[in-house]
Amino acid sequence: MDILKKIQECAKQNPQRIAFRQGCEDTISYGELWEYSDRLAAWLLKHADEERTPLAVYGHKHPWMLVCFLACVKSGRAYCPIDISVPDARVEATLAALPSKYVLATEELHADAGEKQVLGLDALERILSDVQADTVSEENWVHGDETYYIIFTSGSTGTPKGVKITADCLNYYLDWSTGLGSSPEAKQGQVFLNQAPFSFDLSVMDLYTSLATGGTLYCLEKSVQGDYRALLQGLAASKAQVWVSTPSFADVCLSDKNFGQELLPELEVFLFCGETLTNKTARKLQERFPGAKVINTYGPTESTVAVTDVLVTQELATQEEPLPVGSPKPGTRIEIWDEDGAALPEGEKGEIIILGDTVSTGYYGRVDLTEKSFFVSGDGTRGYHTGDKGYMKNGMLYYCGRIDLQIKLHGYRIELEDVESNISKLPQVEHAVVVPGMRGGKVSSLTAYIVKRVTEADGESDSGEESTNTADETAKDRKSVV
Ligand code: AMP
Repeated sequence: MDILKKIQECAKQNPQRIAFRQGCEDTISYGELWEYSDRLAAWLLKHADEERTPLAVYGHKHPWMLVCFLACVKSGRAYCPIDISVPDARVEATLAALPSKYVLATEELHADAGEKQVLGLDALERILSDVQADTVSEENWVHGDETYYIIFTSGSTGTPKGVKITADCLNYYLDWSTGLGSSPEAKQGQVFLNQAPFSFDLSVMDLYTSLATGGTLYCLEKSVQGDYRALLQGLAASKAQVWVSTPSFADVCLSDKNFGQELLPELEVFLFCGETLTNKTARKLQERFPGAKVINTYGPTESTVAVTDVLVTQELATQEEPLPVGSPKPGTRIEIWDEDGAALPEGEKGEIIILGDTVSTGYYGRVDLTEKSFFVSGDGTRGYHTGDKGYMKNGMLYYCGRIDLQIKLHGYRIELEDVESNISKLPQVEHAVVVPGMRGGKVSSLTAYIVKRVTEADGESDSGEESTNTADETAKDRKSVV
C-alpha cells in the first residue's frame, strides 16, 4: 500500500467525496484535501528548512489538521500532532524537542512556542488560497524508511518521548487494518468514527484506514464527548459503519440505554485497541448491536497502533475470560521473553516482544532510550520490548498487565514516574509518589502522595519532615501535570 497514492487516486476519481466531517458543517472533500495539502506542501518546500525537520501540527479536529499532516509528508518531512487536550507544559516540551522553525496551528496556541513562528488559521488560509501547487512532485514525498509521523508519549523521566513511525510502517499497518472486520473492497466509502485525538496513535486506525479506503472520517469533538446529549446526537448523525475507540469510551456510551443498533443502524464493526476489552463490555455490545462484529486489537504506539486482532464472538465472550488480544498480523512476530531475553514456550508468562515490519525506528533524538527498548534481530528484523506481560496460547496472545509502572487512564498511556517527576519539580514539593486507584479492574484515578519541601517560611513551627500538601493542592498540582 502507498497511502499517499491511495488518497491521490480517490481525489482524482471522487473529488467531491467527503474525506472528513466534524459535526454537520465542517467538512473537506478528497479533492480539496489533495489540492490544499499540495499548496501548503509547496509553501513548506520554499520556506521551511531544507533539512526537512519534523513539524508540529497543533489543534483539535479541524479539517485543516489533515491538510497540515499531508502537506508535511508531501514536502518530505514528518509531522507531529499535538492535541488541545495536551497541557501547555507538555506542548512546550514537545515543541522544544523539534528543531523546525514553524508550528502549524488550527487552534489558538497558548503554550510558549519559543523561537518558532506559529502559522495559525489566518496564515494557513492565505497560503491555501494563494499558493500555486505545481512545485510539489512525488519525489518530494516521505518514502520508505523516512519518518512519516512522530507521536509523543509519556516518558518515565518526566519528558515525553517521540515515537518515529516511517512511511513503510504505516503502509504495512494499513495493508492489514483495511481488512479488519471486512475486506478493503467492502470498506470503500464507509464512514469511520473518530474518538481519539490525533496525538493518540489510536486515531491512526480510523484516520488512515478511512483515507486508505476512500472513506469518510466522522470526528467527535472533545466538547461533544463531554456532553451526553450532544454525544448521542453526534453518534446518530455520524451514520458510522466502522467504530474505532478505546473500550473505556464504549463503556461511557453503554451507560446510556439509547446506545444501541437503532442509534447506529449501519454499524458493522467495533474496532478496539489501547486497553483491556472486558468480557462484560464485549457481551453488552453484542446484545445492543446484534448486527455488528466486535474486534479486539493490541499494540503500542512503538509498533504503529496495533499488531494483533481477534474477532470476539459470543462464544468467546462467554467462555474465555480474560479475552485474548489476538493473533499477530502478517509481517509481525510475537515472542514471549524471560528476564534474560530467552524465548519462552507457549503458555508461559513473560515480556511481550514485537518483531516485524511496523516496529518504529526509535525515539526522536533519543538514541539512549531507543537502545534500551529497540533492537535488530539476527535476521535484520526490528524488535521492540513492550514492557507488557503476556503469554501465547493456541496462536493467540493474552495480555496480563505491565512489568513496569506504566498505566492506562481512560485509554491514555501514562508512566507514573512521569507524573511523579513533574510534581517533584514544583517548588513546594520534596518528593512525590503516585498511586493508581482501581475500579472494575481498570485504573480509574491517580493519587499523589507528597512530602512537602521545608522552606525558611515554614521556619521553626514545622519541621516539614512528614508534612503533606493539602488534598486540594495535591489534586490541583496533579491536574496540571496529567
Ligand atoms: P499506546 O502506545 O498508547 O497505544 O499504549 C500501548 C499500551 O496499551 C500497550 O503496551 C498495552 O499496555 C496497552 N494495550 C494496548 N492494546 C491493548 C489491549 N487490547 N488490551 C490490553 N492492553 C492493551
